[in-house]
Amino acid sequence: MGLDARTVMVMFSMLAFMFFCLFELAGLRVGNIRGVRQWAIASLCMSLGFSLAYFYGQTTPGHEWAAVIGLTLFALGTCLQLTGILAFKKQAVSWSILILFIVITICQATWFSVINPDTRMRAIVNSLLFFSVYTVCARVLLVKVEASQKLAYWFTGASFVALALLMLTRAVVLLLSPDAEIGLHVNTSINTLPFVIASLLEFSVAFGLLLMLNHRLIADVYQMASRDALTGVLNRRRIEEEAVRLRARCMRTGETLAIMMIDIDFFKSINDRYGHPVGDKVLCAVADIAQKSIRAEDYFARYGGEEFCMLLTSTNENEALDLAERLRLAFAEFTLTVGKERLNITVSIGVADSSLIGLEFSDLVAAADKALYCAKESGRNRVVTYTEMDVCSTS
Ligand code: GH3
Ligand code: MG
Ligand code: MG
Repeated sequence: MGLDARTVMVMFSMLAFMFFCLFELAGLRVGNIRGVRQWAIASLCMSLGFSLAYFYGQTTPGHEWAAVIGLTLFALGTCLQLTGILAFKKQAVSWSILILFIVITICQATWFSVINPDTRMRAIVNSLLFFSVYTVCARVLLVKVEASQKLAYWFTGASFVALALLMLTRAVVLLLSPDAEIGLHVNTSINTLPFVIASLLEFSVAFGLLLMLNHRLIADVYQMASRDALTGVLNRRRIEEEAVRLRARCMRTGETLAIMMIDIDFFKSINDRYGHPVGDKVLCAVADIAQKSIRAEDYFARYGGEEFCMLLTSTNENEALDLAERLRLAFAEFTLTVGKERLNITVSIGVADSSLIGLEFSDLVAAADKALYCAKESGRNRVVTYTEMDVCSTS
């Protein structure tokens, strides 16, 4: 192989340094996402490790301590990548195992570089050590992955799998080739190729980590844009989006979609009497009770002010009416203690379904709103369905 491994080391050292700068800059604007700082320092360790590898390869047999320190920096960099990934995924770090890994790396590097120089054995032991830590990294990345970020996790995880396989292959090949000459000054495939591939895969890992960060930020922004800041339930924008999706699904499957509009009775007077913070608590409690009452396939959102909207899949008006009645009673039983007073609330609910109205969300909302208005007109604290609105004087 005509590739000069030492030149490759210098180039990768500079690139790793740029990744360090990139992660540092990215880390400035990531809010409460953890792990990015560790990836930055990991890149710095690798950059220095590559530089020392270059320095080590300058002479034959080489600057032994440069090899020891370079390998230690690599081990430290890899451990920091792993702790960064664990922090990013909010998982606990087992420091004792990582420290043990670094100590073993230092001991074997010192033994095979300084005390009893044996480049081939050092390469074999190192390959097996790094094989184990890359495997752990891959495992952490490939299990329990959030669906919205799968692609980025799989990309990074696959890079670690490739690194682990490369290390294992290298160890096996070296074991089977006792006469192979090893070292950065030797430009043979068996010697140089693993360095080049490993360096490229390290960059693939760095790209993957940046991709994970990017996907997490997008997921966080999407989460913020689709949730109500006060109650934490879905907001109007998001339920409108889901309604479009449900419309397409129901058209395909012929399911009925039911809608419920829930409005707190005399809420303004709660604000006036107890103040806005208490009003906010009531809103949160109502949202909490309603959210707990729905199935995983249903949607509940704060539609605006003190009005909430529920979309129930494969549900007709009668079934929605049953749930609405249960909810109305649950709200009536709810009590909020304010100082020495006990505050009770009631809600009015309008119900409609797609069999009469069609699947257009705005039509469903309008129908349920009419039923809700009827419930208010008929005295509040009640449920009215779109089909029984004829009982209402204003229908
Ligand atoms: P009705 O029984 O007819 O529904 O009467 P209401 O008083 O509940 O209805 P109205 O529309 O007159 O008042 C709604 C009130 O909801 C007015 C507004 O100040 C209050 N509100 C809207 N958003 C919030 C919020 O985020 N927090 C609090 N505390 N109040 C809010
Ligand atoms: Mg109201
Ligand atoms: Mg209202």
